Amino acid sequence: MEFKKNDMVTVTIEDIGNDGEGIGKAAGYTLFVKDAVIGDVVEAKITKCKKNYGYARVEKVVTPSPFRVEPKCPFHRQCGGCQIQAMSYERQLVYKQDKIRNDLLRIGGFTAEQIDAVMEPIVGMEEPWHYRNKAQFPVGYDREGNLITGFYAGRTHDIIANTDCALGAPENKLILEAVLSYMRENQVSAYRENTGEGLVRHVLIRTGFCSGEIMVCLVINGKKLPAAEKLVEKLTALQLKMTSICVSINTERTNVIMGKEIRVLWGSERIQDTLCGLTFSISPLSFYQVNPRQTEKLYGLALEYAALTGDETVWDLYCGIGTISLCMAKRAKKVYGVEVVPQAIEDAKENARRNQITNVEFYVGKAEEILPDFYEGEPSVSDEDADVENRSEQRHPDVIVVDPPRKGCDERCLETMLAMQPKRIVYVSCDPATLARDLKMLCEGGYELKKVRGVDQFGHTGHVETVCLLSKLNVAKHYVNVT
Ligand code: SAH
Repeated sequence: MEFKKNDMVTVTIEDIGNDGEGIGKAAGYTLFVKDAVIGDVVEAKITKCKKNYGYARVEKVVTPSPFRVEPKCPFHRQCGGCQIQAMSYERQLVYKQDKIRNDLLRIGGFTAEQIDAVMEPIVGMEEPWHYRNKAQFPVGYDREGNLITGFYAGRTHDIIANTDCALGAPENKLILEAVLSYMRENQVSAYRENTGEGLVRHVLIRTGFCSGEIMVCLVINGKKLPAAEKLVEKLTALQLKMTSICVSINTERTNVIMGKEIRVLWGSERIQDTLCGLTFSISPLSFYQVNPRQTEKLYGLALEYAALTGDETVWDLYCGIGTISLCMAKRAKKVYGVEVVPQAIEDAKENARRNQITNVEFYVGKAEEILPDFYEGEPSVSDEDADVENRSEQRHPDVIVVDPPRKGCDERCLETMLAMQPKRIVYVSCDPATLARDLKMLCEGGYELKKVRGVDQFGHTGHVETVCLLSKLNVAKHYVNVT
């Protein structure tokens, strides 16, 4: 049967797609159905047809799945943020566990027995709401021209008014309402993307979940915020631990949210927070894990897998602001961190000083360049005072930790890791597909997958983090194969 756009079909949802959408068949034709939950029977409208599959959207739930729940947020279908809020949290965790397992099977080439022998149950959240410590809200106008803030409707830049996101800190609502009332009372305009006119583009709010400190940063299309003292008055009058009020100047016509220049209006430029017993200082531009409670569990596992005794040299590749490096430093002889963003490395060094950790060194650059340079004895990672022999000896890794972005590790980085032969590799990943690809290469190069565990950092979204432990085989694999 041939389908076309806008056709209505009845579909039984039998599987879950990569982004959390439902998958089912209508007359043998596979449909990816947004907002459908596995187990649902739905009436859906086809939105796009391809030769072998199509896309559709739920019009009516005919028979709800036993896993379907009442979503907390009334905007969950329009918003681009949560893809699986209508699925019970328990079922979300099963979905994420399966996603990791299936990628290891299909992409990693591991057998079901291998995976089941090493995979531990996913670590879920105790409270899967209000877990994000950072939120960026666009500011604009609704159809009637009223000033609003909220979120972008999925895949568009239309703003839907909502100050009460269920994933963000509960106090965001009070802060956003104070910002809007300041703007109305002082005739401060919002930015209009289509014309490039207007002032306030976004409101960034960061909260230290341990410290309680709050940062509010208005991203503005101009140099100055009029009547800034009125904004400060309103924000500091809230019964909150307001610590930093600032503006970020972004006069470019771009989708990039933050501008590079930060001006403090009140308080300090940074807030502090504690993670794994260490203090971190966070600027509006710093990268910092957005779900600190789960991050502690994630790092805890990474530490456990690294099995440090105090004698090891550790390389932490893709180290960001040094969070993993500093956690490991407390139990290692020496830690080297590598990160491509120079600002993040400045933060990492500052964080080391702040916590009085002296056995870490950080390098700015690409992991796939710094690591081979070091291995081949290039000067880019040289120490003025150490002789070459000694230096390579000391820096040779016993453990390598990687935590790359979604695209995974560069092949050159993996090749060098294999050549360096650390005893253990701890792989922290935010994308199971690229993780599986990289694990395949590492296991073909003489490592054995010992442990795999998912950690849910982003409840109600399709994302999942994974931590893995790999150990070096005593005999290189190709010898085993030959004999
Ligand atoms: N481990 C850190 C950050 C992980 S996010 C933490 O847990 O907080 C991934 C980091 O990799 C980002 O900071 C990004 O800037 C960095 N990155 C991206 N590509 C890189 C590359 N080729 N080499 C080194 N770092 C890279």
